[in-house]
Amino acid sequence: MAGRKRVVIVGAGFAGLAAAKSLRAAPVDVFLIDRRNYHLFQPLLYQVATAALSPAQIAQPIRSILRRQKNCTVILGEVISIDAGARIVKGTRGEVPYDYLIIATGAKHAYFGHEDWRGFAPGLKSIEDATAIRQKILSAFEHAENTQDDAERQAFMNFVVVGGGPTGVEMAGAIAELAKQSLRNDFRKIMPDKTRVILAEAGANILNAFPEKLSARARRDLENLGVEVMTNGAVSDCTADSVVIAGQTIAAKTVIWAAGVKASPAGDWLGAEKDRAGRVLVTADLSLAAHPDIFVIGDTAAIKTADGRFVPGLAPAAQQAGKYAATVILHKLEGKPAPAPFAYKNLGTMATIGRNKAIADFGSFTCSGFIAWLLWGCVHLLPLVGFRNRFVVACDWVWAYFTRERGVRLITTNARSEDTDL
Ligand SMILES: Cc1cc2nc3c(=O)[nH]c(=O)nc-3n(C[C@H](O)[C@H](O)[C@H](O)COP(=O)(O)OP(=O)(O)OC[C@H]3O[C@@H](n4cnc5c(N)ncnc54)[C@H](O)[C@@H]3O)c2cc1C
Repeated sequence: MAGRKRVVIVGAGFAGLAAAKSLRAAPVDVFLIDRRNYHLFQPLLYQVATAALSPAQIAQPIRSILRRQKNCTVILGEVISIDAGARIVKGTRGEVPYDYLIIATGAKHAYFGHEDWRGFAPGLKSIEDATAIRQKILSAFEHAENTQDDAERQAFMNFVVVGGGPTGVEMAGAIAELAKQSLRNDFRKIMPDKTRVILAEAGANILNAFPEKLSARARRDLENLGVEVMTNGAVSDCTADSVVIAGQTIAAKTVIWAAGVKASPAGDWLGAEKDRAGRVLVTADLSLAAHPDIFVIGDTAAIKTADGRFVPGLAPAAQQAGKYAATVILHKLEGKPAPAPFAYKNLGTMATIGRNKAIADFGSFTCSGFIAWLLWGCVHLLPLVGFRNRFVVACDWVWAYFTRERGVRLITTNARSEDTDL
């Protein structure tokens, strides 16, 4: 509408979507740009990678989410640069002018200077990553079944997950359950319970953001599932056939990278100051010191809390930042004084290890085992976008709980079906 201010939001993840929704009643025109046409619920990606859920169950078209928000226009396109002087966002869909800009482009995995490992050890960040990992895991069992060579068979049945944070722990536990429970009776030559799942963590503990008691409990639970946890296990080399952990070479055809993230290149577009992980350093109101009308939020931003620590890269933190940036813009539009600086509210952290096994830290109280696992289920079900997704995921989980089945054991490739080569 003529004369109305334009708020451009780049990224429809947790942060960008929360910002767009918070501007629903504001007298502004909102333009939400994303290179994907869907919002992705990343916390459940590992379940797609391990054949428990299908991609559509954890993703929702952005246009359908914002269908009723008449002041919001969704643009499918990739942003390539920003001209902060001219207040223009440039991308594959041309130029989009703005009065206020919110950047929420997330993060990607980092290989700490070993980019050559990327091809051998895929990370988990997108639906494409998750289906590629699913294909790799399921194909490994097929190759193991078909080979006559004992050493090669074991290499196909060795799975290494690098990184002992929540994603690594969840992946390792899920692969162990897939191999030792879901696939147990499905092969004739191999014994899936001979599968080795190794979780390599460079530090002294897995899940080191959790209290030591919970981290130790998670380790015990993983070991009970048959996962070998190698702490102080830094990876020094990785090839298509093996990985070197703490100087020990392990033959493994499947290595999964869950060891680190790097922010999106938004800092480079803006020439802004960044931390070591590439996150843009923002002021207390999440804007840039040099450009008070540009906000950087979510995993792309390095946000300091009052106690001097950085806000963690978690979905609730991204949502809180999205809502806050929208509030700052509203205050500016209405000529009100700036709101109090952004304050992150820690809603707790959780990690699941497998069936009936999880840990949860809510600060004032912690829990583990079945109760934590139930809580984890609720906390990951309720924020899924779309009633249909919540319903279908709940049904799949209940079915899987009683049958130990994993319903999405599909080996799919990008090739035409007749060209498919495991
Ligand atoms: C495997 C995995 C498991 C996780 N588990 C949990 C968990 O259990 N609990 C939890 O709280 N957090 C979890 N997280 C972290 C959480 O998902 C992130 O903190 C959160 O997604 C950050 O939100 P965001 O909006 O900053 O970025 P994202 O959600 O990543 O969204 C970024 C958006 O920007 C778009 N984009 C990027 N670049 C461009 C561009 N150039 N042009 C246009 N669009 C662009 C992307 O397509 C994407 O839609 C997990 C993350 C991963 C990867």
